[in-house]
Amino acid sequence: MMPELDGFAVASRIRELPGCRHMVLLMLTSSGQLGDGARCRSLGIDRYLIKPVKQADLLDAMLTALGSRSPVPKPAPEPSRAAEVAPCRALDILLVEDNAINQKLVERMLQPLGHRVTTAADGRAALAVLARDRFDLILMDVQLPLMDGFEATAAIRAAERDTGGHVPIVAMTAHAMKGDRERCLSAGMDAYVAKPVDRHELLATLAQFAPPPGASAAVPSAAESKPAPDLAP
Ligand code: MN
Repeated sequence: MMPELDGFAVASRIRELPGCRHMVLLMLTSSGQLGDGARCRSLGIDRYLIKPVKQADLLDAMLTALGSRSPVPKPAPEPSRAAEVAPCRALDILLVEDNAINQKLVERMLQPLGHRVTTAADGRAALAVLARDRFDLILMDVQLPLMDGFEATAAIRAAERDTGGHVPIVAMTAHAMKGDRERCLSAGMDAYVAKPVDRHELLATLAQFAPPPGASAAVPSAAESKPAPDLAP
């Protein structure tokens, strides 16, 4: 009950505003009238409360209204997603990424899980870091200044032909083109995650390369794979 525009009129105009079609609306009134319920339903008003409203009733109405309709699918809450993450030992990871925001984003996904992240902003910087330190895994952006992810991967694999070993390289690329995965794999990368990087996908990929101690590796290196044992004569 308001002057000029009453609550029903305001609710009806709110519903016409862009972005407000699915907004939860609760109506408060000090005097319920016959037919109010039908008007509320026709305007998409979620709940109708008689004033004075008790705090517990208001909270209950808000929670019911918010819970009973979700026009936008809600992301799963963080704890349950964290629980789904495949176990993985803590890794020394070289992150090769030129975009500062993406660097922070990936660091925030990995560091809370105990991974140590060293960042290089282009392929040449990555090669310089690799000449001094060893890493369990490399996360390689494809589009990089100076030396891109494909060139850097080729250089790393060429060096490994002399030194032995094989550091897993996981490509991160915004290219959504079909065949991009194949291009990454043929360039010597071991796996591929799409950008923007999804935390769950990234962690599941890392876990493939670094299962916790005691679990068997999903991707054995060539050196570890043994020929099938001979059958008894
Ligand atoms: Mn980039």
